[in-house]
Amino acid sequence: MTTITGWGLIGASNIASSYMIDAIRAQEGHEVVSVLSSDALRGQAFAAEHSIEHAAESLADLLNNPQVHAVYISTTNELHFKQAIQAAQAGKHVLCEKPLALDIQQAKDMVAECEKHGVVLATNHHLRNSALLATAKSCLQSGIIGKVQNVRVFHAVALPAKLKTWRLTSNNGGGVVLDITVHDADTLAYLLDEYPSEVTALTDQASRAAGVEDAVMMIWNYNSGIMAQVHEGFKTGHSQTGIEILGEKGTLIGTNCLTQEPIGELVLQQRNDDGELTRKTLDIPHRNLYIEGTRRFVEAMNGEGTPAATGEDGVRSLTVALSVKQALESRCVERVIL
Ligand code: NDP
Repeated sequence: MTTITGWGLIGASNIASSYMIDAIRAQEGHEVVSVLSSDALRGQAFAAEHSIEHAAESLADLLNNPQVHAVYISTTNELHFKQAIQAAQAGKHVLCEKPLALDIQQAKDMVAECEKHGVVLATNHHLRNSALLATAKSCLQSGIIGKVQNVRVFHAVALPAKLKTWRLTSNNGGGVVLDITVHDADTLAYLLDEYPSEVTALTDQASRAAGVEDAVMMIWNYNSGIMAQVHEGFKTGHSQTGIEILGEKGTLIGTNCLTQEPIGELVLQQRNDDGELTRKTLDIPHRNLYIEGTRRFVEAMNGEGTPAATGEDGVRSLTVALSVKQALESRCVERVIL
């Protein structure tokens, strides 16, 4: 008889439905055995829809289940901290959605508690598993574009109707910064091996009036001298995501690549000796980002390697996002008075 490694889902969420249940089931010998919702009927309906054998009545019920070896936390952001701490105390490995928590100390406590109980903690920064971004990273390491000078990040999207809920209204974990800035900080750290040392940020008038930001434009400075321009939003319906990495000897242009899907194009753009711009589209061995991230997590559970994004990575991406939140508050930028 094959031994099953069981997972408990903490949160009957859209991301679990759309990507993570399949990603867990894609791992040999792994199965989702229980799901917890704060609404018992919704939990049962979710379990039935996804052929999950058990709908837990409480967190304790899910964590006491000996068939549960790992949990995937995808509740709303203000709940991650307590749920992760309790899961660690119950000896379960924790794959947690971003942002890990709402403040740095909580996120650090999550890392410490998982360490104390000898369980893996990972942050589900899925973009680290993008084959396109991995190719971009290899290009940077090869030196083909020389020293990086600037980065431009295009991460303004339109929220689908089903996600126009707490992200747009909650003062306790909503807003585009906790949702997307964490990803961008992590993605740039993955590519550049560095986090920004200074950030400025502005949101638009509508966001300021609403009290929860759904658009933000930022400039980030890095100690190495790199300056990044980052645009994120929830209401930009006719754009596509992208990243441009501008180096002294060339530019890498990733289009349609800050997404959940294994898609997008990466172009290397350089001027030849005659000053003409040349463009070469690079081959990308696209792969499912969530399956790859879960594979890395499973390896770490088995004592082989580290997750794609660790708990510490989640602490650092949250630190950048909270600095951006502070910059939005302080408005420490010069006003343009025409
Ligand atoms: P959802 O709004 O789908 O789920 C969050 C919670 O809302 C669920 O746990 C559930 O509570 C409740 N909920 C969901 N659908 C319904 C419904 N139809 N009616 C009533 N309640 C509902 O959020 P997401 O899936 O978008 O995000 C969840 C977490 O995952 C967040 O932390 C987010 O930041 C992260 N995320 C990460 C992504 C990534 O690529 N890494 C992508 C998207 C999200 P209950 O469990 O109590 O039923």
